Amino acid sequence: MKLFGIDIGGTSIKIGFFEEDGSLIEQWQIPTHPQYLLEELTQSIKTYLSKNEISFDEIYGYGLGIPGIVKDGIALSCVNLGWVQTDIKKEFRRALGYEANVYVFNDANIAAFGEASYLKEKPSTVVFVTLGTGVGGGIILNHEILEGTEGICGEIGHMFIDDKYKFKCGCGNVGCLETIASATGIVRLAFYYKDKLPSSLVFHNSLTAKEVIDAAKKEDPLAIHVVDEACLALGRALSSIAVLLNPDAFIIGGGLSNAGSFLLQKIKENYQKTCIQQAKNINLKLAGLKNNAGIYGACAYLIKKKHEVEKNGKC
Ligand SMILES: [Zn+2]
Repeated sequence: MKLFGIDIGGTSIKIGFFEEDGSLIEQWQIPTHPQYLLEELTQSIKTYLSKNEISFDEIYGYGLGIPGIVKDGIALSCVNLGWVQTDIKKEFRRALGYEANVYVFNDANIAAFGEASYLKEKPSTVVFVTLGTGVGGGIILNHEILEGTEGICGEIGHMFIDDKYKFKCGCGNVGCLETIASATGIVRLAFYYKDKLPSSLVFHNSLTAKEVIDAAKKEDPLAIHVVDEACLALGRALSSIAVLLNPDAFIIGGGLSNAGSFLLQKIKENYQKTCIQQAKNINLKLAGLKNNAGIYGACAYLIKKKHEVEKNGKC
């Protein structure tokens, strides 16, 4: 059998075609047009299969990651794509034209599953944190994706963490982790300290978090302070999560994780300042699959389900 891992993003859709052992046969991407999304996606799959003379009978299933709040295959809210209370599993099957085996998850949750599955240690409980425009994440508990009652498990960016700056968050609250620890948060903090600390940074309108982090690496006083504040917030958030879930590992991904060990070390130092003694030496590492975590996660999830069905005889 073969399977599809699909990662739907706001601008493009990544499609991965896999063998049952998890090895990638081929991957490609198509642009995201919200209006015709499922039709274009399923058409691309059908064209590929027909070109390679592969029938639906040879496909075990399809795993989809979507950028929104998902619970039991229903997109509760996926604003960018115009899905509200939409049964994606049903709609995908309709567009595909048969009752396929389909799993749908939030994109960060399925990426978390991918990162966890491809770790050598095969840990059972993992917290994945994405540091990008916002702060997102996913929680794998006992090898299963945790969605929660409202589908918001892993929305780490909205943990209340800061009562010092009280920046307003996109969610409507103030003091959320992502208001200071995301790429936009780092830039926001840099501007906040603009006239308060010495710096060689040029404060143009399109200042990026990368520029701030690069300046911090060169010991720019303002930039160091900003990155330290962001990492303090992250360290505190992770130490709180550690006592809730006692995970085997924290995995840090997203665009900011490209800053590498410089950022990871600072997060670790701050984490260790506030975490409970027993969790001090936690496995804190950078994501390995990067942009492909979604398609590999969807693939790994289907393989896990297949093994469960074979073992227990049920879905
Ligand atoms: Zn928030």
